[in-house]
Amino acid sequence: MYDTIIIGAGPAGMTAALYAARSNLKVATLEQGAPGGQMNNTADIENYPGYDMISGPELSMKMFEPLEKLGVENLYGIVSKIEEDGPIKKVITDDQVYEAKTVILATGAKHRHLGVPGEETYSSRGVSYCAVCDGAFFRDQELLVVGGGDSAVEEALFLTQFAKKVTIVHRRDELRAQKVLQERAFAHDKIDFIWDSVVKEIKGDDNKVTSVDFENLKTGQISNQAFGGVFVYVGLDPVSSMVEDLGITDDDGWVPTDDHMRTSLSGLFAVGDVRQKDLRQITTAVGDGATAAQEAYHYIVDHF
Ligand code: FAD
Ligand code: NAP
Repeated sequence: MYDTIIIGAGPAGMTAALYAARSNLKVATLEQGAPGGQMNNTADIENYPGYDMISGPELSMKMFEPLEKLGVENLYGIVSKIEEDGPIKKVITDDQVYEAKTVILATGAKHRHLGVPGEETYSSRGVSYCAVCDGAFFRDQELLVVGGGDSAVEEALFLTQFAKKVTIVHRRDELRAQKVLQERAFAHDKIDFIWDSVVKEIKGDDNKVTSVDFENLKTGQISNQAFGGVFVYVGLDPVSSMVEDLGITDDDGWVPTDDHMRTSLSGLFAVGDVRQKDLRQITTAVGDGATAAQEAYHYIVDHF
């Protein structure tokens, strides 16, 4: 029996584990991949206090390393369900059932897909959701980045080191991304924009992407342009299917909490990107993690 099981070892989950272990709780993280979460797919992080710049994988390792020293058990598993059994929570993976007094859900978010013809067909054959993972395969090619948020603009800038040219297509005529990223993109001679337009279809030959059809939302005009790769950054969906049956999410799957990271189910906390909130960043994820661990400690003292 664990005092707390933390599902997901991104920045939110790893910080929750750090604070819970330092409160002398018996803690395990359950993670389906490498520790770090979305940070593992981020080249340069420039807005984490204390560092001018640090790579995502390096920051992941810096957050992970202290956990083992503090006695956190880092377990592998894909969590499919959480159940209540009286005051105890059961955390269910493919081949194990773990029991805990409290659970902290830190499962984050994943890239949303466009849902247009050709996207699934050419996935991993020119369509990508991770510039850091795949960018180097597209040397000297014309690349398309879809979206207007931080991810789209930051990853377009990252791709300029490999690509001949990077075009950003956005459905409006104004970017959502932070101003500092916008300014860098506007000033970059390898970056072009297609405004007020959406991708209608991704086309290719048998093997790979060759071109993209666009619709201009103001004029209705359809056009086609050649590209060797398409990087999709149109936002995030929550990873919360394991709590679907518990009725703790909003209609879109995000998990509402109070200021203490308490969900509507007693003893279950939610932190980081999976939470219903305005600003999804590493800094806000780690803050959530610290708060939830502290609250889990108080919950255990009061209830067990
Ligand atoms: P995540 O990082 O998503 O981690 C969730 C973890 O849960 C993952 O490791 C996942 O494997 C695990 N998990 C999910 N489901 C299960 C399951 N069923 N069973 C077991 N484990 C599971 N933020 C910044 O502050 N600065 C930046 O420069 C920055 N750049 C970014 C660049 C990109 C391209 C992206 C996509 C995001 C960026 N962000 C940045 C946002 C930041 O990465 C996220 O806000 C942050 O990682 C959220 O942390 P998290 O711990 O909540 O979730
Ligand atoms: P986001 O902020 O939600 O932006 C998604 C973008 O995609 C928006 O510009 C949106 O257009 C567009 N879009 C949504 N659906 C679309 C569709 N079907 N077709 C075409 N365009 C579509 O998502 P994100 O950029 O992935 O960022 C996610 C979170 O991570 C944010 O909180 C962000 O701040 C954070 N992040 C931070 C950094 C950093 O700090 N450096 C870097 C990356 C990400 P509209 O603008 O019209 O809505």
